[in-house]
Amino acid sequence: MIRAENLRHVYKSSAGDRVALDGVSFSINDGEFVAIIGTNGSGKSTLAKHFNALLLPTSGKIFVDGLDTSDEKNLWHVRQNVGMVFQNPDSEIVAAIVDDDVAFGLENLGIEPKKIRERVDLALDDVNMSDYKKFAPSKLSGGQKQRIAIAGVIAMRTKIIVFDEPTAMLDPQGRREILQMVKRLHAQGLTIIYITHFMEEAAQAQRVLVMESGRIVRDGTPREVFTDVREITRLGFDVPVAVQIANRLRRRGFKLPKKILTADELAEALQ
Ligand code: ADP
Ligand code: MG
Repeated sequence: MIRAENLRHVYKSSAGDRVALDGVSFSINDGEFVAIIGTNGSGKSTLAKHFNALLLPTSGKIFVDGLDTSDEKNLWHVRQNVGMVFQNPDSEIVAAIVDDDVAFGLENLGIEPKKIRERVDLALDDVNMSDYKKFAPSKLSGGQKQRIAIAGVIAMRTKIIVFDEPTAMLDPQGRREILQMVKRLHAQGLTIIYITHFMEEAAQAQRVLVMESGRIVRDGTPREVFTDVREITRLGFDVPVAVQIANRLRRRGFKLPKKILTADELAEALQ
């Protein structure tokens, strides 16, 4: 679904060049749920913007559904395939009433009004926001606004949705709701790319890419990535609590399996 080949991105300014992506190669299959983690400034958002050609490579290539994003003829099709949800819901809301906001992208595609209304209703239902159809977005909580933004993307029926730290500004309840929604979209067959700095969110993906200084330094299952305590600590991330406790117990002589990731697995091993 997505393939990057030695992708580089350099921001040029009068203050000097800034290498944000420094030779990134990977592919993501149809229907995968991939989390991307990495410290601030490691290049995650820059990479996200390459998935729908908001940015184009300085060198190297990125293909979306087989299409080279840097070829102008492909732009429309690439954008049709990739929905984006960003960190700040306020900057994504464009209309004064919820259902108009969800319809916005569809109106730009020239779809007939009756079809638009059907799709908007379905999308609002999908994110449990049907009751708020005629509300002003400004009256909604951050989590609800983010759900409206997701409904706008769902209504577009893209194959891929890229989330760039969608829960960073939400409270724990709002975060849980968004993650549930993401998992449901994945279960429906969408390809999900989910950038986060919450390790417990990344742990729920099928695969985790770790970025550092514009490169991908790890690519594996959450179990492979998060049980490598030395590497996770070096990168400055929190090691999941169950992994920490398992390690301390091992140092005290408990014989525990190597790859414990969750509290349930730890409890079972101890029993
Ligand atoms: P992340 O999302 O992982 O925090 P970004 O992709 O936003 O990282 O940024 C990667 C690097 O590129 C950082 O060093 C950042 O300062 C720089 N950068 C990001 N956007 C711009 C821009 N518009 N102009 C110049 N430099 C930028
Ligand atoms: Mg970012």
